[in-house]
Amino acid sequence: MRKISIFGATGSIGQSTIDLIARDPEAYDVVALSGGHNVSRLAEDAIRLNADVAVTAHNENLPALRDALSGSGVEAAAGENAIEEAACRPADWVMSAIVGAAGLLPGLRALENRATLALANKESLVTAGPLIMATAQAHHARILPVDSEHSAVFQGLVGEEMDAVERIIITASGGAFRDWPMEKLAKATLAQASSHPNWDMGQRITIDSASMFNKALEVIETKEYFQIDPKKIEVLVHPQSLVHALVGFNDGALMAHLGAPDMRHAIGYALHWPARRDLPVERLDLASVAKLEFQAPDDARYPALRLAREVMAAGGLTGAVFNAAKEIALDGFIAGEIGFMDMAGIVEETLTVLGGDQSLIQAAMTLDNVRAADHMARVRAREIMRAAPNLIAQQG
Ligand code: NAD
Ligand code: MG
Repeated sequence: MRKISIFGATGSIGQSTIDLIARDPEAYDVVALSGGHNVSRLAEDAIRLNADVAVTAHNENLPALRDALSGSGVEAAAGENAIEEAACRPADWVMSAIVGAAGLLPGLRALENRATLALANKESLVTAGPLIMATAQAHHARILPVDSEHSAVFQGLVGEEMDAVERIIITASGGAFRDWPMEKLAKATLAQASSHPNWDMGQRITIDSASMFNKALEVIETKEYFQIDPKKIEVLVHPQSLVHALVGFNDGALMAHLGAPDMRHAIGYALHWPARRDLPVERLDLASVAKLEFQAPDDARYPALRLAREVMAAGGLTGAVFNAAKEIALDGFIAGEIGFMDMAGIVEETLTVLGGDQSLIQAAMTLDNVRAADHMARVRAREIMRAAPNLIAQQG
């Protein structure tokens, strides 16, 4: 039996992971599951999968979690330290599916304990790519990408030499507002931004898809994971979300990865790697698809893509600042404090203000320094957001 843990088990990726392992319960020995406020879901899955421990991120949820687990033999725990402790428990395979920078610490601990890390939490690579890759190397642990585009690239590279790779193209659906006129974008509502045309995902990544911040994070994720020159990374809008990525080689060949938009493919690939196993995903009927559509991304519509290029050029801890500022701006949009198009402005302003602080940005890439940069960026982004309280009113 393989020992496995799932961080972010109650979320979209976590639930898809559980869907796959629950189909073959004899194969897996579940060590830890973590969640947030959805205590009943966490407890129900922990009992069903007979986990050793269930951890909620929030201390105030501990009594409810204890109640829900009473008599089951599953241990209850709460808080960031408890998540860290759970990630230190021996496991063969760990799913990193917490959303946001909070996913970095358990991922690092899992790697230090030599688990294979199935990495959905792209923020780990954006905030601390060199640190997480070096940790994996130092402990002879493997990281397998779970983001659909990165899983697709990874599969396209099997048996290939990186020297022969001329370019990596990751596709973007264009999100909820691809076809909206630019002038309407500023007034896009939370409900409109929270519905994705092709993928069923958590709310935060769905909104990030509409703003292209998700693709911006993924460009950086591509650079860090595949250690490739940013100039060789391209973004291509592909509204159907059937081609997930393409790898271009020096002989002109382009290898594309196609599949239905269902994260259980990328999760299942990472779960069974290096083998391929039957997965419960739809098979594409290309004759009925008939046409594949592509278009170049529009820079004016998606400033996040330009910001990602600037972040990669600046290097150091700029990625941690970028991600943290994006998380605060996203919180602001979800809370109704700022408009949809204000998010990029707040992130850009935070990058400008903190980009001048060389002692912060060029500090060594340690966990403490990443956290310091993340913290400073959150403070500054909040100040910038508060200094412009009438953004929505002005647009109104
Ligand atoms: P989600 O919002 O559905 O779930 C997030 C999970 O993280 C939940 O279990 C939640 O309780 C937990 N969580 C939230 N804040 C936390 C905190 N501060 N500390 C500890 N736990 C916390 O998110 P999701 O859509 O499943 O995405 C998870 C990760 O996978 C993200 O990094 C996302 O970018 C990435 N990803 C998701 C998809 C997708 O299809 N959903 C695709 C590719 C990559
Ligand atoms: Mg993706």
